[in-house]
Amino acid sequence: MSSMDFVKDMDGYKEIENDIKVLRKYARDYSAMRGNVKSIIDMLHPYRLHLRVSEIREETPSTKTLRLVSVNNYLPPFQAGQYINVFVDITGVRTSRPYSISSSPAQRGYYDITVRKVEDGFVSNYLLEEVKVGQVLESTAPAGNFYYNPLFHGNDLVFLAGGSGITPFMSMIREVTDRDIDRKIHLVYGSQFEDDVIFQDELEDRSRRHENFSYNLVLSSPPDGYKGLKGFITEGLLKQVLGDIKNKMFYICGPKPMYTFCMAELEKLGIEARKIRLEISGPPKDITAEPGWPRGLDASTVFKVKIRNGKTINAKAGEPLMVSLERAGIVVEAMCRSGECSMCRTKLLDGKVFHPQAVKLRKSDRDFGYIHPCVAYPIQDLEIML
Ligand SMILES: Cc1cc2nc3c(=O)[nH]c(=O)nc-3n(C[C@H](O)[C@H](O)[C@H](O)COP(=O)(O)OP(=O)(O)OC[C@H]3O[C@@H](n4cnc5c(N)ncnc54)[C@H](O)[C@@H]3O)c2cc1C
Repeated sequence: MSSMDFVKDMDGYKEIENDIKVLRKYARDYSAMRGNVKSIIDMLHPYRLHLRVSEIREETPSTKTLRLVSVNNYLPPFQAGQYINVFVDITGVRTSRPYSISSSPAQRGYYDITVRKVEDGFVSNYLLEEVKVGQVLESTAPAGNFYYNPLFHGNDLVFLAGGSGITPFMSMIREVTDRDIDRKIHLVYGSQFEDDVIFQDELEDRSRRHENFSYNLVLSSPPDGYKGLKGFITEGLLKQVLGDIKNKMFYICGPKPMYTFCMAELEKLGIEARKIRLEISGPPKDITAEPGWPRGLDASTVFKVKIRNGKTINAKAGEPLMVSLERAGIVVEAMCRSGECSMCRTKLLDGKVFHPQAVKLRKSDRDFGYIHPCVAYPIQDLEIML
């Protein structure tokens, strides 16, 4: 008796055997459709997009919206809140930065990205100062997990935005209000200065016209005589503008100091962690100020990084390893550049790096020595395998 003969005694064996015979005789020949699934996946998740800048709109003195249309007339669908990672070549360096799509997913004729100037920013300044209408940019397809989930997020959402962190929310607000979706949104938008507030007129207009969307602006450096809300997004302010906070889902997007502050305020309000969604906005500005940074290690210290079967490069302690690699002409596949998506996962063979606490490395990465160069800072000489 063969070791498989016992299978014939199992319940349902005869029926399955019969089904297989029938299928062999009458079922469709699926081999004729070979490649169909791949072509659908390629449409939904293309490896790269080629996007022509069709319009540039000044939003504030420091912010512009770039309207991007597809060179081949096709843009994949996305969820409001997702981003694209835009590739650029600047002074011989190939690099990329993620930008949330600020337009609504309800239309797919274009993607808008809204870029705020960062002081000494490498890519933001290039996009704002150098890029012209007609230029073609390369990007990834839309990605990211900062979007509404109808199963877990309920119908009552509070968005806490800071500065350019308004962009993913703008896409969600436009979608809900344009499509008249049955979902309540309350936006609390913190900005330092009044003239830095992005989309102010449109936000006011939409909140006037749609009952399910309300909006509060909070200025931390208001002009003299300003009548609106002042200061930061505190527990007290949230109680004042939201009233009952039960059953609300909170989303936070903004610079790191803002969400560190807001998380503490939400904790005071008793909001559970599972009711809070965060978008991480890139590597920290000053890594040496992060908790756990090795005492006395200066950001300008230079370490050697040997790439197995490749060259050895210099890397500054204060810069993400990915930036040092790009400066040396080595491009690592990247998406979020915030330690979230795992796309740039790289094997560390020797030496030590520092990851900020906010980066959630998987246990398997830690156990098997993988690092995320987009948020990994060398604190010794290293050897890596790409
Ligand atoms: C998911 C997500 C969505 C985002 N959405 C938006 C958005 O909608 N709008 C927005 O404005 N921002 C957004 N950001 C932030 C955006 O991705 C950038 O971080 C931001 O524009 C700043 O980039 P920057 O290059 O100008 O500045 P930085 O990244 O601060 O530029 C300085 C960096 O460039 C490096 N650098 C300097 N010179 C060189 C060189 N020669 N070669 C290589 N590197 C060099 C520096 O070492 C430093 O690391 C988003 C971020 C994330 C993660």
